Amino acid sequence: MSLESLFSLKGKTALVVGASRGIGLAIAKEIAAAGAHTILAARSADKLAEEVAALKAQGYSADSRSVDMADSDSIRAFAAEFRGHTDILINVAGTNVRRRMQDYTKEEYDRILGINLHGIFELCQHIGGGMVEGGKGGKIIHIGSLMSLLGIPFLSVYAISKAGLAGLTRVQAAEWGQYNVQVNCIAPGFILTALNQDMWKPKHMHDWLHGAQANPRMGTPEDLAGLAVYLSAPASDYVTGQVIAVDGGYTTTANWPFEPAY
Ligand code: NAP
Repeated sequence: MSLESLFSLKGKTALVVGASRGIGLAIAKEIAAAGAHTILAARSADKLAEEVAALKAQGYSADSRSVDMADSDSIRAFAAEFRGHTDILINVAGTNVRRRMQDYTKEEYDRILGINLHGIFELCQHIGGGMVEGGKGGKIIHIGSLMSLLGIPFLSVYAISKAGLAGLTRVQAAEWGQYNVQVNCIAPGFILTALNQDMWKPKHMHDWLHGAQANPRMGTPEDLAGLAVYLSAPASDYVTGQVIAVDGGYTTTANWPFEPAY
């Protein structure tokens, strides 16, 4: 296979759910650039329409749909249109509230798990089910988090959702491998977006990151896009059930104050 066809998404239809801004938008742009007919989905219909117009102006094939991942009826209606016609499903939609564990309200708990985990599970039942029935295989990519791999304070509910996605990734891969559906999870590190920009305003947060991470800069949404294209493309046909961190080395390296004497 040529290098181009290893990474080409020509002739494929991709759903990117949570594509109105941030990581999802950056991924959707590169999925469209790789040749897929790309459906940008989220709640913000106007913003999605703007982004689709910009992609079309560049000669790419794209469209938008509204979906609320907290609402089963909305998920069902969205999925009904694309079941059996989707080659690539990328689940990016997510939300977060940071609190001491004992302070979460039931409403916050239900909302975070509803969007980050239950809605995604339900969408996968429809779209993944369609891939299995269709017999043409497919690719499913979840966006997890560092919380898919480790624990950081004040993120308990988010951690349940993202660790849940890592578990779901492995079981879906196990169930659907025989149908040529590959399922993987990208675990982004510290990526500056609307979801966390207030948290990253204080200088001490950046000073801490500089000491803690092998690559000391914060990540950008664009840092995630290349891996998403790879996991959507034929190049990754033998990769499944993986949780892959894109985190500047945060989960795999450590710094220490030792300096060699010479
Ligand atoms: P963001 O800029 O806030 O984007 C979140 C996206 O999810 C938006 O497109 C939003 O669109 C969509 N969304 C939220 N609630 C939704 C709902 N109920 N139904 C449908 N779509 C919904 O945040 P981001 O940082 O890019 O995060 C994207 C994903 O990456 C999330 O799953 C997040 O947990 C994960 N992540 C982020 C980081 C980071 O450091 N930023 C690190 C690890 C993992 P609408 O508001 O238009 O619906």
